[in-house]
Amino acid sequence: MPRPPRRYTPTHADGRLIKITFGEMRSVGVHGILVYCHCGHHVGLDANRWADEMRLSDIEPRFVCVACGSRGSDVRPNFDRGNPRLAKIGVKEAAN
Ligand SMILES: [Zn+2]
Repeated sequence: MPRPPRRYTPTHADGRLIKITFGEMRSVGVHGILVYCHCGHHVGLDANRWADEMRLSDIEPRFVCVACGSRGSDVRPNFDRGNPRLAKIGVKEAAN
């Protein structure tokens, strides 16, 4: 039995967090993503190739790191390519 979480957080079957959709991300003016590997390698990508109903977490297992060769990644909105004021709001909300 897995440990019960302290509070309910929606996750995929493998335990990764379910993230926002590309449509939601684009609706706040962010059109790029950053793909992070656990080794520290990361790459910025144009998010406009993915459909609105896709979630950032849906594409995480698809990436294979070019630096260390491992599969799986952390996909985050690239606020630098969007509105910098929105980016600051987003950081503040994530910290709370
Ligand atoms: Zn890596």
